[in-house]
Amino acid sequence: MSTVAFIGLGNMGGPMAVNLIKAGFTVRVFDLVPAAMQALAEQGALTATSACGAAAGSDIVVTMLPAGKHVRSLYVGDADNKGLIDVVGKGTLLIDCSTIDADSARFVANHAADKGLEFIDAPVSGGTAGAAAGTLTFICGGTDNAFEQAQGVLTAMGANIFHAGGPGAGQVAKICNNMLLSVLMVATSESLQMGVDHGLDPKVLSDIMKVSSGGNWTLDKYNPCPGVMESVPSSNDYQGGFMVDLMVKDLGLSQEAALLSNSSTPMGALARSLYVNHARKGNGKRDFSSIFEQFAPSSSE
Ligand code: NAD
Repeated sequence: MSTVAFIGLGNMGGPMAVNLIKAGFTVRVFDLVPAAMQALAEQGALTATSACGAAAGSDIVVTMLPAGKHVRSLYVGDADNKGLIDVVGKGTLLIDCSTIDADSARFVANHAADKGLEFIDAPVSGGTAGAAAGTLTFICGGTDNAFEQAQGVLTAMGANIFHAGGPGAGQVAKICNNMLLSVLMVATSESLQMGVDHGLDPKVLSDIMKVSSGGNWTLDKYNPCPGVMESVPSSNDYQGGFMVDLMVKDLGLSQEAALLSNSSTPMGALARSLYVNHARKGNGKRDFSSIFEQFAPSSSE
C-alpha cells in the first residue's frame, strides 16, 4: 500500500487522514500545531518534524490548508525555504484539497509540471461530518492521468469523485458551490427565524420545508437553528464545522472570479457582505451557520 504524506490536520484534514489510516495507507503527518499531530499519532500515523520531511519519500502528498498563500509557499517554497516539489521523488502525485483561488492552483500545477510532477486541485464538499464519515465529494482539476492516479486515495476519503476539467477547474467549481451554499444558509436562517417570530416550532418548520419546494442541503444536513438537529455546530454553540472566516475567504474568491468573467452574482455579493459583517462582529472563528444569530432579536428587544 502507498505511503501518503498528509499536511494540514485541522477540522477537515484530521478526520480525512484518519480515513487513510483506516484504509491501510501508511500515513505521515505534519501540522504547525503539535496537538493536531499527536491526535493523529494516536490513530496510527507517523509524525514528521516538517512538511518536507513528511513528503520526501512518500508516493502521494495530500494537503488541506487554509488559503492560497499557504498552498503556494508550501509547494513552491521561496528564496530561504525549499518547497514540497523540490523534495519529493519522481512520480509522486501531489493533491491539494484546500479551497483556494484557481490561479494559485494553476501556479503550483505549472511549477510541478516543470519538474515532471502531476498536481491536482481537489477541493472538497461535505463538511466535517463528511470528512469523518469518508463521504466527501472531491471536485478535481488536473490532467486525465493525474485524476486516474488519484482515485485510490480519494475514494478512501470520499464517496463522489468528479473531474471538473484541467488545472484550476476543481477550484472554480468549488467556489460556485460555496457561493450557492452561503446564499442557501442565509436564506434558510432568515426563513426559520421569521417562522419562530410568528410562533412556529423551528423543528416542525424545518420538517415541512425539507420536503417542500424550499428544501435544501442546509435543512437536510446542517440546520442553523440551535436544538433542531443533533450533532451539528448550531447545537454545539457553533463550534467546529466550517469557520465564518473561511466562508468569507471563499466568497471573496467567488467575487474575484465573477469580476474576471464579468458574471452577474448579486446574491453572492450580498452573502459576502453579510458574512463579512458577521465576522467583524467577532464571529470569524465560529461555524458559518452562526449567521442565523444575525436574524434573531437582540437580547435588549
Ligand atoms: P483549519 O483551520 O481547521 O485547518 C487548517 C490546518 O492547516 C490547521 O491545523 C493549521 O495549523 C494547518 N496549517 C496551516 N499552515 C500550515 C503549514 N504551512 N504547514 C502545516 N500545516 C499548516 O481549516 P479546515 O476547516 O480544516 O479547512 C481547510 C481547508 O478546507 C480550507 O481551505 C477550507 O476552506 C476547506 N474546507 C473546509 C470545510 C469545513 O467544513 N471546515 C469544508 C470544505 C472545505
